Amino acid sequence: MDQVNIKGKIFHKFISSDEIALVIKSLSDRINKDYAEKEVLFLIVLNGAFMFASDLLKQIEGNHKISFIKLSSYQGLSSTDEVKELIGLNEDLKDKNIIVIEDIIDTGITMECLKERILAKEPSSFEICTLMFKPKAFKKDYNIKYIGREISNEFIIGYGFDFDGYGRNIKDIYQLKD
Ligand code: 5GP
Repeated sequence: MDQVNIKGKIFHKFISSDEIALVIKSLSDRINKDYAEKEVLFLIVLNGAFMFASDLLKQIEGNHKISFIKLSSYQGLSSTDEVKELIGLNEDLKDKNIIVIEDIIDTGITMECLKERILAKEPSSFEICTLMFKPKAFKKDYNIKYIGREISNEFIIGYGFDFDGYGRNIKDIYQLKD
């Protein structure tokens, strides 16, 4: 399938499932090496990271905990006042080694919001693992230790990435052209 049509938008094949598997292998090798003697609490950011996290974590060695979090946006009291609420973070993070697994970091705003809330719970270490990173869109200056692949700013779907809820089930990644 060279292209997919979702709600009238045409997406072209961009990264094959074989390439994704290689990217994930390289990430899991690094994490296994860095945390060989340490226990990690992996926090999977829903919804987009579910497929990536599933494939990545199957290749992680050792005994670790896994939990799921979600940032839900809602309007605050004033209409311009957007508040992001973190849901699902019920674990005690104090003195734990945290790795957050995210699908993509674009402007970096979402991850900054997550990072602040997680660091407030005093973990002993905090690292980010993202499958995709858009360096030209990134507006922040925090470190992202584990980056699967850097991509340009075009919108992608497939392999967990959605367009209006569609496309998450597609095994390859497709990119919107124009
Ligand atoms: P940020 O806060 O870094 O700008 O945005 C992060 C979120 O935007 C991601 O978790 C994801 O939900 C969404 N996002 C950014 N770029 C893309 C993209 O190319 N495709 C899809 N499907 N979502 C994206």
